[in-house]
Amino acid sequence: MSGTRLNTDGRLGVMLTELRLPTMKRLATEACDQADKEGWPARRLLEHLLEQEMAEREVRRFDRHRTQSGLHVDKYLSTFDFSAVPAISKAQVTALADQYDWLAHGSNVLAFGPPGSGKSHLLNGIGHALIDAGKRVLFIRCSDLVQRLQVARRDLRLANEIARLDRFDLLILDDISYVRKDQAETSVLFELIAERYERKSIAITANTPFSKWSDVFVDAAMTIAAIDRLVHHATILEMNAESYRRRIAQADVTKARATRKPAHSTTEDDA
Ligand code: ADP
Ligand code: MG
Repeated sequence: MSGTRLNTDGRLGVMLTELRLPTMKRLATEACDQADKEGWPARRLLEHLLEQEMAEREVRRFDRHRTQSGLHVDKYLSTFDFSAVPAISKAQVTALADQYDWLAHGSNVLAFGPPGSGKSHLLNGIGHALIDAGKRVLFIRCSDLVQRLQVARRDLRLANEIARLDRFDLLILDDISYVRKDQAETSVLFELIAERYERKSIAITANTPFSKWSDVFVDAAMTIAAIDRLVHHATILEMNAESYRRRIAQADVTKARATRKPAHSTTEDDA
């Protein structure tokens, strides 16, 4: 049988590469051997190889979406400690992650809270869950996106750039409060919000309440118009929690103190 064994080093391999069928190329020899040995009908062999190719293609697609999403690789909902933010309902967050019909209506998520309260982590977690469900997500610092849109406006392709972002079911704009005043003057962020309104979802994290958003947009009227569109269909997550980092650091200090031996016992040991 070894003389007739399928060889994918030659012309067949070149064709499979050309057709972008890497899984079939990798598995063909082994599958043909198995088919010969077990007397598979030709149809079964063909189906088997195509099924494998499709399954791996799906995995590659998910991997690509995750890589392109800009999400942090280690910030999942499974690693988010909900007990640290009692104001947040785990059920509500789980619903956002599992029942993604809100994306079809272009609803938004707005996460407010002081630095370190877990806003970015939480939205990363939701983002990962949505990618698992086959949705497209982009996580980006808000000021970086504004910069990107400003460049596009300068090159007269702002509408194009905003339309290109339509491929993402959810845009997560991290730290809207860090948009600089000079960036605000070009109003590109407002145009993005207006363009996605009731069509495509946006999630935002903010260290400051709406009342302090005047620096993010050109003027008061535009600030109100932007907030209006964002909140019209939105889930608002108020993370009124103390900084998680600080809590962990404090807990470490307390633990270190508790485990430290009292001074007199050291003396006794030494004696
Ligand atoms: P924020 O975006 O509100 O400033 P982050 O999400 O960046 O805060 O959180 C700061 C750090 O603390 C991150 O490393 C994050 O993973 C961690 N963290 C914050 N809140 C939680 C939480 N509830 N459970 C687990 N880790 C958390
Ligand atoms: Mg953050």
